[in-house]
Amino acid sequence: MKLKDIMVREVVTVSPEESTASAARRMREKSVGCLVVILDKAIKGIVTDRDLLACLGESHDPRDCKISTHMSRPVIVERPEEELLRAAEIMAERRIKRLPVVERGELVGLVSFSDISRIMAEQAQAYGSMWASVTRLIRAENLRHRSTKPSSAPAP
Ligand SMILES: [Zn+2]
Repeated sequence: MKLKDIMVREVVTVSPEESTASAARRMREKSVGCLVVILDKAIKGIVTDRDLLACLGESHDPRDCKISTHMSRPVIVERPEEELLRAAEIMAERRIKRLPVVERGELVGLVSFSDISRIMAEQAQAYGSMWASVTRLIRAENLRHRSTKPSSAPAP
């Protein structure tokens, strides 16, 4: 499975010049925990709800503070064709929870580590139950073969 199969395509963005207050409002309106900071289609950074809390923690005025003050950068991005497992490895190595997906220089989606791990766990479970079914079929097949053998084989 690839990033393009699970990514959120409607990514909520913010300009680096916008205030932290405005970014917080947008997160709440769109029910997201993360915004990608974009200027002229280029990704400048990424902000999460935790970054916004940092603004308050540092006693800034969120109406005056620009989001560029609190965004994380540089931003690690991936291609839509990247495999989930590889993306999960990159996120774990870099200790990031969200990965913007970029195609030909443009933002086309966003994936979160929690979505990837949930889907991989579901797949593992699906494989597990598939293997259980296969094992049952093999056992049933063996039994059938055994029962078709003559019950009393001639002694050698
Ligand atoms: Zn601030």
